[in-house]
Amino acid sequence: MISSRRSAGEGEPDALAREILSIGFRCRQCGTCCRGEDHLVLVMPEEVRDLLARAGGTWQEAVEPYPEFLEGGNGTRYTLGWCIRRNSGACRYLSGDICTVHGSRPRICRTYPFMLVDNRLEVSPCPGLGALMTMEEAQALASALRERALAEEAEEEQVARVLSMCGMPAGHRCVVDTDGVRVLDG
Ligand code: SF4
Repeated sequence: MISSRRSAGEGEPDALAREILSIGFRCRQCGTCCRGEDHLVLVMPEEVRDLLARAGGTWQEAVEPYPEFLEGGNGTRYTLGWCIRRNSGACRYLSGDICTVHGSRPRICRTYPFMLVDNRLEVSPCPGLGALMTMEEAQALASALRERALAEEAEEEQVARVLSMCGMPAGHRCVVDTDGVRVLDG
C-alpha cells in the first residue's frame, strides 16, 4: 500500500537523494516486506536468471506468473511478467527474517519502500522509515531507483514489441516477457 507521494524535484541532480534523506530510512531486516499475500515481488527474466545462478533450482521453482491474466482472443489468456514464488505467504528466498539471496535480490527489493512513478517518489509503509541515514546512502538509493525506473521502462517497451510481433497459440495460457512468449500449459 502506498502511503504518500512527493515531488522528486526533477532537474536537480541530487533532489531525489535529498528527498529520501529527509524521509529517512534504514532496513531493519525484519522481513516484513518479504511476507504477505499482497506483497508480490515482480521480477524481470534477467533477474530470475541471477536468482537461479545464485540459489540454483528451476525457473518454475523460482517464479510464478503474475496473477492477473488478460484475454488474448481465441481462448488465449496471457499475463505480462513473473513474481517470485511464495511459500506459506512469504517469499521463497526468505529464511526466518533473512533474505538468502541478498546480493542478487531483485531491483524492487533493493529499492523498497521507495519507487519512482512518473519521476515522483512514492513511499510504501515500512518499519524502517524515519530512521537516520547518510547522504551517501540516500544517493545510492536514488541511483538504484533511477536504474530501476530505466529498466522498467526498457522492459515495458520490449514487452510491447514482443506483443506486437509474436503470436500466442490459441487456447493456452502464456506469459509475455522480454524474452518472448512462454506457453504455460500445453
Ligand atoms: S528476494 Fe530477498 S529481499 Fe526480496 S522479497 Fe525475497 S527474501 Fe525479501
